[in-house]
Amino acid sequence: MAPQIPETQWAQVAEKTGGPLQYKQIPVQKPGPDEVLINIKYSGVCHTDLHALNGDWPLATKLPLVGGHEGAGVVVAKGDLVNDIEIGDHAGVKWINGTCLACDFCQQSDEPLCAQALLSGYTVDGSFQQYCIAKAAHIARLHKDIPLDAVAPVLCAGITVYKGLKESGARPGQTVAIVGAGGGLGSLAQQYARAMGLRVIAIDTGAEKRKMCLEQLGAESFVDFATSQNVVKDVQAQTEDGLGPHAVLLVAVNEKPFQQAAEPLEPLS
Ligand SMILES: [Zn+2]
Ligand SMILES: [Zn+2]
Repeated sequence: MAPQIPETQWAQVAEKTGGPLQYKQIPVQKPGPDEVLINIKYSGVCHTDLHALNGDWPLATKLPLVGGHEGAGVVVAKGDLVNDIEIGDHAGVKWINGTCLACDFCQQSDEPLCAQALLSGYTVDGSFQQYCIAKAAHIARLHKDIPLDAVAPVLCAGITVYKGLKESGARPGQTVAIVGAGGGLGSLAQQYARAMGLRVIAIDTGAEKRKMCLEQLGAESFVDFATSQNVVKDVQAQTEDGLGPHAVLLVAVNEKPFQQAAEPLEPLS
C-alpha cells in the first residue's frame, strides 16, 4: 500500500541569511521525473549548516532555506524515470543532492566539482524537514539492517573522511596521522582507518581525547599538540623508521595545522 503523504510538513526554515530559524509548516514537494521523496527519520547537523545559515561562503544559498545534508529515511514517492529504487527502501540525502552526470568531472567520479551540482541544504532544500527531495541517481542506498540514526552523520562526516583516506593512497599496514583525531570527523576517521588496515597516529590535546583515541578508537599512538615541543618531530618519532607517516589527514579547524600538515610526511623518493 502506498504511504500516506501529507500536503504540509514541519521544517526548520531560514527566511533570510543569518536566521533566525523558524520551526514551521511548509508544503511537501512532489518529486520530479528523476527524483525521489524521502521521509526523513533522522538528520545529522554539520558545521556547514551553520556556514549556510550565516552566509559565510561566497556561493549564495537559496532563500528561504531548509538546511541539512545528513538525512536518513524512507523513500515514499518517486518520479516516472526512477526504476532502481522502490517505495519503502531506505535512503540517505547527502551534500551532493544531484549533478549533471555528463560533464568531465561527473564522468570521472568527481561529482563534487560539477558546475551544475545541486547542494542539499544549500542550493536546494535539505534534511531539516520531514519530507526531502533528492535526485535518485545520487541518494545513498541504505540496507534495512543499517540503523538510520547511526548512519545519518556518515552521510557527510563519514564520507568526508573516508574519501580523504581513500584518496591519500595509504595502503593496509601503512601509517596515517590524523590531525584533530578526537573531534567529530577525526573520531570517525580513526574507525575507517582501522577498518582499512591503516595504523593511526592521533594528534589532538587533553587526557580525555588521548584516552578515547588510544583505548576506544584504536589509535596506536597519540601526540598532544598543546604540550609537544615539536609536533612534527614527535609525529615522525611514532613511526618505526622515524621518517613519518605515509599520509596526514587534516580535520582540525585551526590554521597552523594546515601549514604544518605536510612536514612530518615521509620522503616521496
Ligand atoms: Zn557536512
Ligand atoms: Zn557534471
